[in-house]
Amino acid sequence: MRFSKLYAPTLKETPSDSDIKSYELLIRGGFIRKISSGVYSYLPLGWKVIRKIENIVREEMEKIGSQEIMLPIIHPAELWKMTGRWEDYGPELMKLKDRHDREFTLGPTHEEIVTFLMKNELRSYKQFPVNLFQIATKFRDEIRPRFGVLRAREFIMKDAYTFHTDYNSLHESYQHFYDAYNNILKRIGLKFVVVEADTGAIGGSFSHEFHVLAQNGEGEIFYCEKCGYAASDEKARSGEDFSADEKQAIKEMEKVDTQNARTIEEVAKFLNVSEKKLIKSLLLRSSKGWVLALIRGDYEINFAKIRSVLQDQSLQIADPQDVLKEFGVNIGFIGPINIPENIRIVADLSIKSIRNGVIGAMEEKRHYINANPERDFRIDLFADIRYVKEGEKCPTQGCNSILKQTRGIEVGQIFELGDKYSSKMNAVFTDENGEQKPYIMGCYGWGVSRTLGAIVEQLNDENGIIWPKSVAPFEVAIIPIAKNDEAIVSTSQEIYDYFLKEGIDVVIDDREVSAGFKFKDIDLIGVPIKIIIGKRLKEGKIELKQRNKTESTLIEFKNVKELYD
Ligand code: ATP
Ligand code: MG
Ligand code: MG
Ligand code: MG
Repeated sequence: MRFSKLYAPTLKETPSDSDIKSYELLIRGGFIRKISSGVYSYLPLGWKVIRKIENIVREEMEKIGSQEIMLPIIHPAELWKMTGRWEDYGPELMKLKDRHDREFTLGPTHEEIVTFLMKNELRSYKQFPVNLFQIATKFRDEIRPRFGVLRAREFIMKDAYTFHTDYNSLHESYQHFYDAYNNILKRIGLKFVVVEADTGAIGGSFSHEFHVLAQNGEGEIFYCEKCGYAASDEKARSGEDFSADEKQAIKEMEKVDTQNARTIEEVAKFLNVSEKKLIKSLLLRSSKGWVLALIRGDYEINFAKIRSVLQDQSLQIADPQDVLKEFGVNIGFIGPINIPENIRIVADLSIKSIRNGVIGAMEEKRHYINANPERDFRIDLFADIRYVKEGEKCPTQGCNSILKQTRGIEVGQIFELGDKYSSKMNAVFTDENGEQKPYIMGCYGWGVSRTLGAIVEQLNDENGIIWPKSVAPFEVAIIPIAKNDEAIVSTSQEIYDYFLKEGIDVVIDDREVSAGFKFKDIDLIGVPIKIIIGKRLKEGKIELKQRNKTESTLIEFKNVKELYD
């Protein structure tokens, strides 16, 4: 590309509505323009970077066998009503009507659409698993669109959906996406952390978020430098967040004798509820003494580790093998179970994750198990009892390091959905025994346009953007600095042709402007390597400058061709 032909309207001034560095630089560098609140156009440079991000994402999706599709952006209300999300999703759902007064929404995510697509088509267990993705525009009517493309209303997302007959297959897929997401961030060349996450409006039971580290990120992250433990702030609630009721319940629970453990069977009998019902509830008080942990499906849990974590709290655990045999689920029940009559029991919590032997859970809907109308039991459970705060001890057993706090930008999130959508939409298949069962699903989102902003937010300096080579709009810039010198002009052209031939994305700044002006623009735009061809060419030397380094090096012209290896 010749800079003289490039449409890259760069600006000297900071835009008046700038609220974050990445937005300022993307506007000033001529990458994007704002159309209205949270709605952007991508100019040639911005779109080039988006396409490079997309390509990395696409390659990583294809590597794990995901197949690309394209789903509609306008969704009929009926599908969203089937799952209840027409109401539950809230005001981010951009609702509209057609001329016949039929209701629609612009798609903020596509679980309903893709489940509807597969329903009646995927009928036999033999057709599973299926793994599909798209890279497309999403619309969310964000209450406060801000930070440019980081929190837009119209934005580009890669969303993938998988369909399974059982949880084993889902876990396998989830792990593939987990690895693919790590690869994407490594290939782009960003510092990031992966955190256990809340499932938010998407729902489901198990989730991780991928955060690009940035001082101005919206997400708060607690992490351990030593062992790599990390949790997002949505996930990390401390005891102080409990309501007065909950605090009272905790007090009562503390009086409970913690010596006697019971199995699920005993507890169910004691409470006079079915074991299955009991298993559906999760009791978690890992820090203080009570833990009833349930994992749906057969997720692998290191019970020995959990046991050792909790040993100092005189807890015991039922043999998970027995439970697995009996119910086809993994469950850990950790005593005590001498429930005094004055304590009412439960809440409906489901466990979200176990990592490094630490149990994490989030609050879901609370309900009482009215075990016995003479006895009104309540097992009060508390969301995410995890001591994750800056300056507190890392929850990983044996780590003993202190948690630090940082900020990040969520660029991706993966979810194990289970049958949340398929059950409600009656998307079923016939299994080996002729029985009808709902699909087991996973979904996996990646913010493609948010990634553009996140890269700039992490990688910039006072002169502009510092693109990693992987997604830079140009990998190398050739800057001739004396336009009337025949040798400089022809050498610049020769190097330019060489890079073009090699398939390297190169720009030559052939504009009739001063050298200083060229440097400013090329640095603002963030090209990773500058090759400056000036007076020293007489000695057969050209200057090489990397965007992320201050010093430059003089190299022999004849070596320039090896430069790019
Ligand atoms: P956030 O917590 O930032 O609101 P989210 O958790 O609501 O994001 P998901 O539903 O997990 O988002 O969507 C998957 C991905 O889509 C996110 O990880 C993010 O990269 C991207 N994304 C979500 N909302 C926006 C937005 N308003 N603008 C740009 N990208 C977005
Ligand atoms: Mg959101
Ligand atoms: Mg989020
Ligand atoms: Mg998310």
